[in-house]
Amino acid sequence: MSQVRVRFAPSPTGFFHIGSARTALFNWLYARHTGGAFVLRIEDTDKERNSEAFLNVIYDSLRWLGMDWDEGPKVGGAYGPYKQSERNAVYKEYIDRLLASGRAYEKDGATWLKVDGERYEVFDAHRKKTVTKVKAAPVVINDLIRGRVERVEDEDFVIVRSDGSPVFHLVNVIDDIAMQITHVIRGEDHLSNTSKHVLLYQAFGVQPPEFAHIPLILKQNGPGKMSKRDQGALIEEYQRRGYLPEALVNFLCLLGWNPGDDREKMPIADIIRLFDLPGVNQSNARFDEKKLAHMNMAYLLALPADAFLTLARGYFERQTGNAVAQAALAAEPAYFRDVMLLSQPKIKGVEELPAYTGYFFTEDFPVDAKVRDKVMGKGDPKARLRELMAALPTFDLSSDTAIEQAIKDLATKNALGFGDYQAVARLALSGTNVGPSITGMIRILGRDRVLARMTRFLAAT
Ligand code: GLU
Repeated sequence: MSQVRVRFAPSPTGFFHIGSARTALFNWLYARHTGGAFVLRIEDTDKERNSEAFLNVIYDSLRWLGMDWDEGPKVGGAYGPYKQSERNAVYKEYIDRLLASGRAYEKDGATWLKVDGERYEVFDAHRKKTVTKVKAAPVVINDLIRGRVERVEDEDFVIVRSDGSPVFHLVNVIDDIAMQITHVIRGEDHLSNTSKHVLLYQAFGVQPPEFAHIPLILKQNGPGKMSKRDQGALIEEYQRRGYLPEALVNFLCLLGWNPGDDREKMPIADIIRLFDLPGVNQSNARFDEKKLAHMNMAYLLALPADAFLTLARGYFERQTGNAVAQAALAAEPAYFRDVMLLSQPKIKGVEELPAYTGYFFTEDFPVDAKVRDKVMGKGDPKARLRELMAALPTFDLSSDTAIEQAIKDLATKNALGFGDYQAVARLALSGTNVGPSITGMIRILGRDRVLARMTRFLAAT
């Protein structure tokens, strides 16, 4: 077979949502799997929405997700231009061909595609007028994902409006022909357009490409397709929130596809090797933000320390209005590093870091009243804290295991458990009961700061 050529053909809307990203990704994966070409084509015939800013949303999102395009705006290629707004001459040539061959005709100022078959007149009650219907054989689509789909087109349809603008179906098909696209991989919402597209291919005397309509993405809760207004729908949101693009890509791959086993976190090279269109599910995929957060966590955990620090620092730098985040950036680099690496295995996203680590960077951290009441309402936590403070000068603070052992020894001496010291120490040092290990906290905060916080806590509680 000749080289596979697929395309991603977004309309610039100012948004790039999960559904677009997944469509782009399945095209990109198929191109990389087959050694084919991934073409980016901008369907910007809607002039009002056509602005450079809207285009940049598309380019930036694709780049951020690591989907490089082989042909298209910015990179060029042999089949350009790749923006529909610049292809009017091509469209005119194709339309003239249809008119010359009699496959299209002009009526009421518009241009119509003639559907083959026996014609008859019928009164259409809905439109309240007599219309010409066509008795035509069904159009058959052997979709690579949906299987055999049949649809009857029983009326001629407009391909160029009376204002001279060609309709979506026409330019979409002309470009797929002109750009020699071999596989049209797109959302299932376009399946109902495909019979019109096939008729256009036939009218041009061209063999249609293969079609692969991928299932919809359902919104997290309730019925219906995910829309750009739904929570978690926009790619730029994840970028802003410091998500790892590799995690998002891995998650998107699993929306409608799986490797045939229950693996989830997979290197992209493995996905490229295993991805194929017959492996795409027919059933709709449900968006699950929790699953995405877990995927991000898994990728964060696997990140080398320096890469994690760069990501964390970048996120803190963007929190310009957050005093604690700015204090974190002003801290000693080694201290910042220790705090971040202690937290790395604990968080689902770097967006959690400012709140999760705030007390490391300020003495003015909030105390959770509920946690305080719970911790202080059991046993004699103040006595525990005093014992810990008395023993602390003798602690070896060089490692978490040494600190753990020291607390355990103290607990054993007093016939108590590690937890009796842990909860109140954590409350005094951080104001809460969630966070990284207490031993790591003590090690990083250091003896003086730990003693000072405990002293202050005892005085205030
Ligand atoms: N511009 C269309 C869209 O954004 C492209 C449809 C197609 O891929 O054929 O939905």
